[in-house]
Amino acid sequence: DRILFWHRRDLRLADNLGLTAACQRTRQVTGVFCLDPAILNREDLAPARLVFLLDSLRELQAGYARLGSDLLILHQSPVTGLPALAKALKVRSVFWNQDVEPYGRRRDEQVAAGLKEQGIAVQQIWDQLLHPPGTILTGSGSPYTVYGPFWKNWRAQPKQDPVPAPPALQGHTETEETLGTIALPDPQTFQVIWTNPLEIPVGEAAARQQLDQFCQGTTIGQYDEDRNYPARPGTSRLSAALKFGTLGIRTVWRQAEQVLVRCRSDEERNGVEVWQKELAWREFYQHVLYFFPALADGPYRPVWKGFPWRENRDQFAAWCAGMTGYPIVDAAMRQLNQTGWMHNRCRMIVASFLTKDLILNWQWGEKYFMQQLCDGDLAANNGGWQWSASSGMDPKPLRIFNPASQAQKFDPEADYIRQWIPELKSVDSERLVKGNLPKAVRDRVGYPDPIVNHQQQQQTFKRLYQQQKNAI
Ligand code: FAD
Repeated sequence: DRILFWHRRDLRLADNLGLTAACQRTRQVTGVFCLDPAILNREDLAPARLVFLLDSLRELQAGYARLGSDLLILHQSPVTGLPALAKALKVRSVFWNQDVEPYGRRRDEQVAAGLKEQGIAVQQIWDQLLHPPGTILTGSGSPYTVYGPFWKNWRAQPKQDPVPAPPALQGHTETEETLGTIALPDPQTFQVIWTNPLEIPVGEAAARQQLDQFCQGTTIGQYDEDRNYPARPGTSRLSAALKFGTLGIRTVWRQAEQVLVRCRSDEERNGVEVWQKELAWREFYQHVLYFFPALADGPYRPVWKGFPWRENRDQFAAWCAGMTGYPIVDAAMRQLNQTGWMHNRCRMIVASFLTKDLILNWQWGEKYFMQQLCDGDLAANNGGWQWSASSGMDPKPLRIFNPASQAQKFDPEADYIRQWIPELKSVDSERLVKGNLPKAVRDRVGYPDPIVNHQQQQQTFKRLYQQQKNAI
């Protein structure tokens, strides 16, 4: 009575609700992961994400081996591969944890249909959110489209405790060759490199350790203040772990709640709560994507449909390369290009710059982020971009960031700017944060002139926005 457990974005053994449910039925559980060519060949797959995925899978495979079972790797679409594997293994049922993404949901329906045709049962469980879609609704029973009331409701609901890793399992007796599954490829097979200079925690053990460090030290208590300063290590850097599920969300929540209990000041308590609010943003964006899947393909608000975005590819290339002549924007883009991660404050700054200063379509930026980010995630990325472009669920009609005032407030000593733009290392801080570098200085160090004028572009942008509003 073997069960096949299909891992997707839950690359861990501990605190995995679907896997636990399978193990409660039987000890004969085999794990499987599908390296789906449709995903591997996507043009927005970031090297950092692929390396993160393969390395986390390697650790998971070792974990299964320790328990006495296996994690099989299928180099095939799950739609065809899983029913065939399930048949070869003579399993009675296949279990997996559910997803919110439109592609994943369509694919899961197809896989489930293929399995059921063969008389194999399917069990789908919610695991990646503390509260799955449909459990947090307004008084009239509809999904929230505004974060504030969602948070209040979400916060008030009781939350499940984490579940432990499974006990010893029984592996299958067939060899991998007979099952047609191949070993895990090396990232080099895909010719991708990610050196991970920020030491983003990869795999289950490292994610757990990072969570412990973040919660046991002073960082979480100072989060409300420190999270805004990109030069400070003030955030958890757990986003990739949460995207790939190398860490269970119940484990994360319980640790944060335990910190709350032992907080000694209101400031610390506030730090923890503001961090918890970020975890709720993650859930909010997953809920809205689940209920409004069209978000994945375009703006939510009608005023943005058909907006006359510019088509300037040269300016887009300058933005991507971190060569706009705006130091805070360029520092952030270079951090992204070199590390596969960018600080949240800077994600907002560069997204505002792309949309409101360069007047380029936010979907260009959304795609570029996906091509680079180790934590690239449709719900969070799309949510972040629609928020920055003012086209999403954010009730505020228009947000425009001034890059210079952002730098003055959040990188006052220009430490972040200097870290990522080495040619500006010797330039005076005040000039750097205000962005008023004389041409002679720019020429001397080989740093570009600003590609647009913020004040002018802001006016142009507002005019276009007003015209668009009047037209609908
Ligand atoms: P922390 O500050 O420690 O927060 C803890 C966790 O909460 C994060 O790991 C993440 O899972 C979640 N979280 C925090 N902020 C947000 C948010 N605004 N929206 C959703 N979840 C959040 N986050 C991604 O995980 N993947 C993305 O592809 C992504 N793209 C973004 C694009 C834009 C334009 C913007 C403005 C934000 C984006 N974010 C994305 C949200 C946020 O920037 C990152 O989650 C955060 O910077 C990750 O760092 P951290 O793990 O140290 O976060």
